Amino acid sequence: MNRVEKYILSERENGSGSLPAFIYDLDDLREHVRRCVQTLPKSCRLFYAIKANSEEPILRALAPIVDGFEVASIGEIRKVRGVTPDIPIIFGGPGKTDEEIEGAIDHRVQLIHVESEHELRRVAAIAAKRNITVSILLRVNLKGPLPQATLAMAGRPTQFGIEETEIPDVIRLARQLPSVRVEGFHLHSISNNLDAEQHVRLVEYYCDRVKEWAEMFGLNISWLNAGGGIGINYTELDKQFDWDLFVGRLDSMLATKCPPGVTVLFECGRFLTAACGFYAVEVLDIKKNHGKHFVVVRGGTHQFRLPVSWQHSHPFRVLPVERWDYPFPRKELTDAHITVVGQLCTPKDVLARDVYVSRVRIGDVILFSHAGAYGWAISHHDFLSHPHPRHIYLGEKEKEAADGGDSTHDRSVVHTPVD
Ligand SMILES: *Cc1c(COP(=O)(O)O)cnc(C)c1O
Repeated sequence: MNRVEKYILSERENGSGSLPAFIYDLDDLREHVRRCVQTLPKSCRLFYAIKANSEEPILRALAPIVDGFEVASIGEIRKVRGVTPDIPIIFGGPGKTDEEIEGAIDHRVQLIHVESEHELRRVAAIAAKRNITVSILLRVNLKGPLPQATLAMAGRPTQFGIEETEIPDVIRLARQLPSVRVEGFHLHSISNNLDAEQHVRLVEYYCDRVKEWAEMFGLNISWLNAGGGIGINYTELDKQFDWDLFVGRLDSMLATKCPPGVTVLFECGRFLTAACGFYAVEVLDIKKNHGKHFVVVRGGTHQFRLPVSWQHSHPFRVLPVERWDYPFPRKELTDAHITVVGQLCTPKDVLARDVYVSRVRIGDVILFSHAGAYGWAISHHDFLSHPHPRHIYLGEKEKEAADGGDSTHDRSVVHTPVD
């Protein structure tokens, strides 16, 4: 039994602590992300894309470990600066307002990922007014074809980035704007990729493109942002993205393919925080309708929207709770396929569908794993006005002695953007 399961069960058995709850193991998070940072090739840097989970304890845990944070709004910039005054921030996303660009400069964002020609002109105008030079990456929407993945941001019609065929014109324009400096390219194109070899080929493809533009325009670039998009396998938990294979192949690929002087940035969200988080709910009722077993839980997709958003059955375990306070018998199912639903008045409020369990009883806990990324963060919390869940962070105070490892880690990752 892991630490999260023990914590929830002991609360349940002694009748303390309400559910639902999101519960995070910050020690696991630190260990996982530290290992990712330490095993990446030397010419790479790892940023955390905070939209996956921007809660303060998560940011606090990661700030000393990652090379920086990737943000997509002024709100996210403020969250990061609320945690640490000096960590490198890179800022992307379509539809940045002037206020956000101004705010990014005020908060010493290192790189702005420019998503269109108009945005380039606005960044340049704002920088010119302040008499400064802003470092930017051009976000490219590649022609493709790209490796398959669950969500594709490029290689097909989407709102992201600058169409690849327009890149030469945009580079020419950028050169006439002395208040911006093109320091490289941003190529985040896919999401939830589970195939490590394919991911290396994707980065290789990025390297080829960037080399071509650099040579064509004699650009002196420093950064290739390969984005995030490393996935989590929610259906077969034992078949996760093979990180060790990835970093091994990446190292040899970059040795021959990485344009000279270029540092490759990764800005991962899901892969970093998914596994440290759990969503714990209590079974309120069990019923059979039209031949199907429904397990109704306290909670639902208004708190944990990921399964509906991705149309999957989210992985869970049943934690058996022996405590039973009612004077009448307890309903249970054994050897059954169950559909786990929440408290919302919509048939779409389904967390897992037709999943086999050996036993589940009213009062047991259903513990959803891999809930640390795009869980609470993407959910419509106030629909139906149920109380919010608790958020529990195990290991908030890091054990000092055991770690030590990252004092040698080079954090000087991104050039100062603003002259
Ligand atoms: C969402 C996002 C990420 C993180 O994606 P993950 O799939 O969570 O790794 C990185 N970069 C950009 C630009 C994004 O929009």
